[in-house]
Parts: sequence; C-alpha cells; structure tokens
Amino acid sequence: MLSARLLEWYDRHRRRLPWRAEPGVTPDPYLVWLSEIMLQQTVVAAVIPYFARFTALFPTVQALAEAPDDQVMAAWAGLGYYARARNLLACARAVVKLGGFPKTPAELRTLPGIGTYTANAVAAIAFGAPVIPIDGNVERVVSRLFAIETPLPRSKPQIAGLSATLTAPGRASDLAQALFDLGATVCTPTSPACVVCPLRQDCAAFAGGLTTTLPRKEPKKSRPTRYGVHFYLTDAEGQVLLRQRPPSGLLGGMTELPGPAWRARPWSEAEALVEAPQRADWRNAGQVEHAITHFHLVIDVYAAELPRIQAEGFLRPKDRLAHEALPSVMRKCAEKAQEKYVKATS
Ligand code: SF4
Repeated sequence: MLSARLLEWYDRHRRRLPWRAEPGVTPDPYLVWLSEIMLQQTVVAAVIPYFARFTALFPTVQALAEAPDDQVMAAWAGLGYYARARNLLACARAVVKLGGFPKTPAELRTLPGIGTYTANAVAAIAFGAPVIPIDGNVERVVSRLFAIETPLPRSKPQIAGLSATLTAPGRASDLAQALFDLGATVCTPTSPACVVCPLRQDCAAFAGGLTTTLPRKEPKKSRPTRYGVHFYLTDAEGQVLLRQRPPSGLLGGMTELPGPAWRARPWSEAEALVEAPQRADWRNAGQVEHAITHFHLVIDVYAAELPRIQAEGFLRPKDRLAHEALPSVMRKCAEKAQEKYVKATS
C-alpha cells in the first residue's frame, strides 16, 4: 500500500532537522509550531540559523510569551513577513493563557497567525491528528501521484480531497513529514528522481510520462513596482537616525530609516529631498531593489552627516544596527549608504 511504502522509505531516509523529534521521541509542539511559522515562504536552509538563535533566546513558549516585543522583533528581523512575528508573539501569549497548545486543527485555527496549513501541520506532526498539511511539496507530490491536470491554484480543492485519501493509522505525524521529505528530496520541482522514488509504481504522472510537466500552474501576474526614498543621517558620534513604523500595516512595528510612504511613481531628487528629516548636504547613495510580498520595491537612498541630529526618531550607533529590528530592505539601504560613505571619505 502506498502509505506503507512511503513510511518505509521515510524510516530510512528522513531528514534530520533541528525542530524534528528523533524516532520514538514525542515531538515538542512549541518547536513544531515555531518552525512552521518560520518556514512559511522561507526555505529550510534560511530558517535553520534563525531557529537556533530563537530557541536559544526563547527555549519554551513561556519564555517567548514573556519576552519584550522589541527583543522578539529584533530576533525575527531578516526573516521577512513581519506580521508573522507579531502574530507569533500574540499566539505564544494566547497559548500560555490556555495552559498549552490545543491539539485539534479547529482549535489551533482560533489562535493568532494560525491558518489551515499551520493548524494541520501542528495537529498532525505534534499530536498525530489524521490530517495532511498541504504545503508546496505536498501539492507537487499529490499532483503527480494522481496526475492532476488542472493548474494550480485552481487544483487546490482537488489536491486537498485526494490528500485526505492518504492515511497511516497511528503514524499520521510521520506520514505528513514523509510527504514533506519526499517532495523536498526526491519529487523535486524540475528533475524528480523517479528512479529512486518509493511511490513510482503508484504514480500516475510517472506512468503517463508527465513527471516534469506536472503540476501545471496558471501564469503568474507580474508584481507592480513601488518607489521609496529613505534617509541615512549620522551625527558626529557615529549614531544613525532611526524611527519605528506604525504598529499595523506592512513591516508594522519594525525599525526603519526615515522616509516618506512608498508610492507608485519614482521620486525626483527635488521631490525626495523635501521629505528629508533635517536639512543637510544630502548625497545620493544609490538605489536598492527588494521584493516585498506583493510588489517590487525600488528605493533611493540619501546619506548625510551633521554634527547634531534634531529630527524626530531615535539614535543608535551605526555599528550596532545588526541588533535593531531592521527589516532586510532597511539593512540593504543602510549598507548602501555606508558603502557610499566609506568610498566618499577614503
Ligand atoms: Fe514524484 Fe517521480 Fe515519485 Fe511520481 S515517481 S511521486 S513524479 S518522484
């Protein structure tokens, strides 16, 4: 039977991941939940160092719930999608209030930041609930196993229905993780290793010669571009002017270099400098490009130095920016300004 073949393969080839319990060990729901939140839209290799740092700082859900918001946002900075970090804290605090993680997908879905996928993943992996969490890997494996010709995302309901037919009584946790691993290491996007696949004899795409054409996907809509301007202002003591973004909205609560709201058309230098936090001899330090969730961002960076800063915001030493809750795009802007400043003064 398909599930049995898959589990036999998993027992021999499972990936060792820092958040994954060893065979025979009960999974820790905190680690499962934390890793699933971190892995949303981010690859395993990028998550591993964040996960290590996070669990060293906050080894339990209680420790995370009690941590100051700023410390959590700073530890998260660079992982992107900051609404997740805010929800992570809110969820940790709700879990502590409840006395622990709930065990069913329906209860888990009532917690902040937990949607259908994460609820199913935590319920299946941590508590052995008989559900299949459907991520990109599972979508691909199931689309190929059943030769689903309907393109994604329209095929999602069909994939969910067919996934539900995969069961492994008593081993639901391993079945979910086995599907993840098969998708990540064997049934890969462009060159699936069908020759070593434990499901080859069950696979309709393999039988029909469709392994590399499935899953089909609807053509992607192109992302719009938005334009920003941010200012890197330092004082004689080597401090940089920063400010905090409003708590809600994009990158909410994160730290940024001052600048006006992003907009749909580029900024001329004259328009940009009207927005500067303080009058100074501003120099154009260049452009930074960055992909944000639903759009492409192009930012002009201006840099200046003044003996004293009197603008609204707060000051931090420029060599300590790594400890601030600066999102990746703002780190890029600061680096761009620093590069230019080093060149200009060397
Ligand atoms: Fe994927 Fe190939 Fe295995 Fe089918 S046989 S599940 S296409 S690796």
